[in-house]
Amino acid sequence: MNFWNQELSLLKAEGLHRELKRLESSQSPRVIIDNREVIMLASNNYLGLSTEQEIKEAVIRVIQKYGTGSGGSRLTTGNYDLHEQLEKELADFKNTEDALVFNTGYMANLGVLATVVGSEDVIISDKLNHASIIDGCRLSKAKFLVYKHGNLARLENILKRSSKYRRRLIVTDGVFSMDGDLAPLPEIVELAEKYQALVMVDDAHGTGVLGAKGAGTIEHFGLEGKIDIQVGTLSKALAAEGGFVAGSKNLIDLLRNKARSFIYSTALAPATIAASLASLRYLQSHPELLKNLWRNINLLKDGLEDSGYELLPSNSAIIPIMIGDREKTMELSKALLVEGVLAPGIRPPTVAEGTSRIRVTVMASHSVTDIEEVLDIFARVRRELKLIR
Ligand SMILES: *Cc1c(COP(=O)(O)O)cnc(C)c1O
Repeated sequence: MNFWNQELSLLKAEGLHRELKRLESSQSPRVIIDNREVIMLASNNYLGLSTEQEIKEAVIRVIQKYGTGSGGSRLTTGNYDLHEQLEKELADFKNTEDALVFNTGYMANLGVLATVVGSEDVIISDKLNHASIIDGCRLSKAKFLVYKHGNLARLENILKRSSKYRRRLIVTDGVFSMDGDLAPLPEIVELAEKYQALVMVDDAHGTGVLGAKGAGTIEHFGLEGKIDIQVGTLSKALAAEGGFVAGSKNLIDLLRNKARSFIYSTALAPATIAASLASLRYLQSHPELLKNLWRNINLLKDGLEDSGYELLPSNSAIIPIMIGDREKTMELSKALLVEGVLAPGIRPPTVAEGTSRIRVTVMASHSVTDIEEVLDIFARVRRELKLIR
């Protein structure tokens, strides 16, 4: 047996071995998986923009003009007018002075954290923050302290005890990816002001979902101008690829000069940037998208609760259905797929033991009929499996 085999056997023995699902269609409300049509209830394409005709045409025009790859990193030969235009419009959208695009949200978190804090500093992080934040913290060499999820008393305790560090940075997701709840940003900002700490918010799941114009959690809470560092992704509601940091002119200039994940990687292709730019513009000129998304979120939540499911108190397009037991969760997910709904089960180590759940997400492009069909299937499967939770 070779080394890889041993590790794989271990994963399999622990029930943690994972396999890829293969899609054979676009990321639509109904997708083809393994030659079969199922309702997609797990996509981050929250606004349904990945198949929007106007956006596809904008991308095709850019491919005709600029071709495919970008040909270099941003600081050498890969910086196009499109990159700069997207950054300008992202900064306007996020109400900041400037913005910088990275190749992924993951790389944005690595780049910004490793640039703004170092070994003399401390990062104070919510327990449920995204893995890319945790990896960015490791890379930064800063001291890393964790507070219980959303717990302001614990956060304040850490702030009281950490005045010896040169810089203190509170980091939180805006919308938490497994629970769908929001960070208590107004209170976090207040504490940050009281203890002179910086605040960084990763709003990957909030962008395009929350706030009157879809700018995210910070707009939702009316905290424009109060957050030092905003991170976002172009790969979720904006249906393209890439990540970004938005903030002050100086922060962005520093990142452009020092963030290694920005400097040492080839720039995103012009067509990819064009997709983000077209999506961002489309989102802002089609307010009905947000309305449809929230109609669907509320329809689905109400209907699931009516049939007896226990939901976590989320406030986003992420709806976690609490099951508890991991085997029951996976059994439910499998039964839903057989009936025609893709609704993944989430179990440890991704979530804490005893909190296994079905995690569904809704899109603006789901029709009311799609949602009604989903609710029928969830109700039927619940009766068949005799679920009590
Ligand atoms: C998805 C996600 C990321 C990573 O973004 P990518 O563009 O997919 O790399 C970072 N942070 C959070 C909170 C996310 O949900």
